[in-house]
Amino acid sequence: MTNTSDNTSDKRISESDQALTLWYRSGLRFTCTGCGACCTGTGRVWLSEEEVIEMAERLDIVVDEFVSQSVDREAGRWALREDPQTGDCTFLQGGRCTAYKARPRQCRTFPWWPSTLESQATWAEAKRVCEGIDHSESTLVPLSEIQSELRQERLGRAKWGRS
Ligand code: SF4
Ligand code: SF4
Repeated sequence: MTNTSDNTSDKRISESDQALTLWYRSGLRFTCTGCGACCTGTGRVWLSEEEVIEMAERLDIVVDEFVSQSVDREAGRWALREDPQTGDCTFLQGGRCTAYKARPRQCRTFPWWPSTLESQATWAEAKRVCEGIDHSESTLVPLSEIQSELRQERLGRAKWGRS
């Protein structure tokens, strides 16, 4: 019993120590403008099988039909289909997401990804694509919210390869 209690307390201390050293511990400024830039060009939107089914249900499409119209299988994983010429997500029409309410987790958690939060340099790189970062009307997102999004994204990524 004592050991369990000590371990928990050590873990709490270690997590809070970690938070103190994070470069974004004071929060980051971001509000999505809906510009659609993150839906263009290179980079795939990966989904777990569970998300493929959920997205089809939210769009009110039979799963097989949704897969054949909008999803690709690549290297053992599911991904939203892209325009072969531009690399843009096929749900992006006229600069807007036509599946916004049904969009998968990877779209919802951007820009709170491990790769964008790795350092100030990677955050600055994300800013070159995303006008919502440090936008004049953007709000300050606190560390607790960033970490919660990051956790969700990490959990989701762990399911990508499972089908
Ligand atoms: S589903 Fe919507 S938000 Fe996600 S990449 Fe495609 S267009 Fe963008
Ligand atoms: S690039 Fe940024 S501001 Fe534009 S839609 Fe994507 S998350 Fe929102």
